[in-house]
Amino acid sequence: MSVAVQDRTFDVLIVGAGVAGLYALHRMRTLGLRAKVLEAGAGIGGTWYWNRYPGARCDIESLDYSYSFSEAIQQEWEWSERYAAQPDILRYIKHVASTLDLHRDIVLNTRVEKLEYDASARQWTLTTAKERMVARFVIMATGCLSIPLDVAIPGIESFEGKVYRTSNWPHGPVDFHDLRVGLIGTGSSGVQVAPILARDASHLTVFQRTPNYSIPSHNRTLEAEFIKQWKADYSARRKAARQTRNFTNNDAGTAPGCDQTFEQREHEFERRWRETGGIGFMYAFPDMTTDATVNEHASDFVRRKIREIVKDQEVANLLCPRDYGIGGKRICVDTGYFEIFNRANVKLVDLKTDPIVRVTATGIMTQTREFALDALVLALGFDAMTGALLRVDIRGREGISLRERWKEGPRTYLGIAVAGFPNLFIVTGPGSPSVFANMVTSVEQHVDWIADCMSRMRERGDTCIEATVKAEADWFAHVAEVGARTMLAKAANSWYVGANVPGKPRVVMPYMGGAPQYEEICNRVAAENYEGFIRA
Ligand code: FAD
Ligand code: NAP
Repeated sequence: MSVAVQDRTFDVLIVGAGVAGLYALHRMRTLGLRAKVLEAGAGIGGTWYWNRYPGARCDIESLDYSYSFSEAIQQEWEWSERYAAQPDILRYIKHVASTLDLHRDIVLNTRVEKLEYDASARQWTLTTAKERMVARFVIMATGCLSIPLDVAIPGIESFEGKVYRTSNWPHGPVDFHDLRVGLIGTGSSGVQVAPILARDASHLTVFQRTPNYSIPSHNRTLEAEFIKQWKADYSARRKAARQTRNFTNNDAGTAPGCDQTFEQREHEFERRWRETGGIGFMYAFPDMTTDATVNEHASDFVRRKIREIVKDQEVANLLCPRDYGIGGKRICVDTGYFEIFNRANVKLVDLKTDPIVRVTATGIMTQTREFALDALVLALGFDAMTGALLRVDIRGREGISLRERWKEGPRTYLGIAVAGFPNLFIVTGPGSPSVFANMVTSVEQHVDWIADCMSRMRERGDTCIEATVKAEADWFAHVAEVGARTMLAKAANSWYVGANVPGKPRVVMPYMGGAPQYEEICNRVAAENYEGFIRA
């Protein structure tokens, strides 16, 4: 059945209603532009709308992992935990949207399927299943981790129990009591959900392919006095965070680890593990991921901790990552993850030595045995950074397709723009620090840059802006060169480099040069009349 198509005209169309799309809508409105947000989900919040699994929480501290643009909002919102849980983050996002009256310009349940640029009209046509809209500008706020990986696990359709995906968790409560649960996937999502499953299920089998480095979160309830102090100088703290490598108020060490003795490094690792925990562990020394000795020391430190926590040394050894250094894959932050392997109702299955052959009606069959299961939880990750962009059929000047342009891997200028695709902006795209920094602040930085760019275009009477091929090539050569100095380039199967998706070109996608350095480059480009862009 064909669907009626209406033409509707806007100044800006924004794809995605996560923290990026919502802030983009707000900024477009402040410029007096007519904007609309199209969102595939039935609600706003993006990541925090979809990933509702028990245990889901941020691993950047809530007081940092929140919008900074409104002093009123940051003063009135009360975070209850150091790392807010998914329901709290979603409540916060909804609160911001209501405060700014964003809902009237958001269309839910609407997946954008196609975007085509008309060079003569200098406008984009956006197509959904139901309608077509046109706009001069498009902002892709489609998320770096919004397309769940479609992993073909043989026989999964024959399983007679319930199958749950962390990336698209049911909205109502899920009861695992008296169930034998199998969990596949031990990245950040798996590591967060596992302790809850271990607590609730009668038995949990964790199917692990690659072990991960995980740091204890030391999550806690935030005391009123602590919040009061923080809020007393919130804007100063935001400013300070903006100067750190990952846009957070972490206590980042500045002295290179390679200049310290083993004992000094050990002392610092111990302090961070015991007292602060979380991602801050990675900021013990500035050369944690670039100096092989420092990296191996930190990796070995975590392995020793795992062996201290997990009593059965055979299990502990299986949980210890060995074939890549810490930071080579995104580290995890947990609340009692390794501890679950001391429980009588938890079993670890090492898929490297005993791979899954198939899922059966009643469980999972590995090469050596069958595990009887009543429910399966899949925490298999995402087609990161490029997945959502390439799901849309984007056609730039002369019908050039983004999928074609990125066949060998993504290429952008600053992670924001692509040559051949005028007036199309990406928020936290490949080639920007994005997933390597506090993403809410990264989003604000990108959206502000985009809004300023549009405002300057209007002042000059420009109707078109496009990255040059040279600027894009130079930028991505720089992204690759900086990435090559880190453990990232060497990591076996990290999503940072696209290696978790079969056939995806292996490219270091995030910019590893540091968020403040990156912001400075973006600001310089703008100050130099948008160097690397053609405006007309
Ligand atoms: P998203 O929140 O992913 O929103 C994108 C939206 O676009 C989605 O709602 C999607 O449905 C929609 N969309 C995509 N394609 C289309 C289309 N074609 N048509 C219509 N709509 C479309 N980052 C941190 O910095 N700190 C954290 O602690 C942290 N924790 C995380 C925990 C989890 C479980 C996950 C998965 C990610 C986490 N992240 C974290 C990364 C997180 O994705 C970002 O922090 C942030 O929420 C991204 O916001 P966004 O708006 O850019 O993208
Ligand atoms: P992920 O880190 O990519 O982990 C996916 C897991 O699934 C890996 O253990 C992977 O094993 C496994 N897997 C994939 N295919 C498999 C297969 N066919 N058989 C067996 N195992 C398979 O994904 P994620 O855990 O969803 O996290 C993605 C990112 O989202 C994180 O890195 C982080 O940036 C963000 N996140 C953050 C938090 C937080 O703490 N705030 C929580 C969740 C997510 P291999 O490693 O062997 O591929």
